[in-house]
Amino acid sequence: MAYKYDDENIFAKILRGEIPNDTVLENEYALAFRDINPQRPHHVLIIPKGRYVSFDHFAKEAADDQIIGYIQAIGAVCDLLNVSIDNGDGFRMIANSGQHGVQEVPHLHVHILGGSSCGKMIQS
Ligand code: 5GP
Repeated sequence: MAYKYDDENIFAKILRGEIPNDTVLENEYALAFRDINPQRPHHVLIIPKGRYVSFDHFAKEAADDQIIGYIQAIGAVCDLLNVSIDNGDGFRMIANSGQHGVQEVPHLHVHILGGSSCGKMIQS
């Protein structure tokens, strides 16, 4: 079944400049901005500039340059936040996907959480 992208999702509106955001990084391939409801001192969302619902959609259908550009943007954001493990204390990256992943906004985004420990990944 084909992926269905909703052009009215909130991150599509942010990409079109219809809703303001607190930008951390923007380039040809990606936009990174602070989450409106931060769960850690650093909580940044990184979205590709393309109509992709989820990470699996992106992995299967995005062009190579889009994938490379997006992944490189994630690395650049980690450096900007000083959470890279080469000179910082690390981070958690989350990509909630679909119903069981409890994805709220249907435009691919990864969360970068850092600045304090994120605890165990899944609480029992
Ligand atoms: P999801 O559950 O889809 O992985 O996470 C969506 C995230 O988007 C949530 O952490 C939520 O706080 C954030 N969010 C929802 N609406 C907005 C918005 O208008 N602006 C920003 N900056 N973040 C938003």
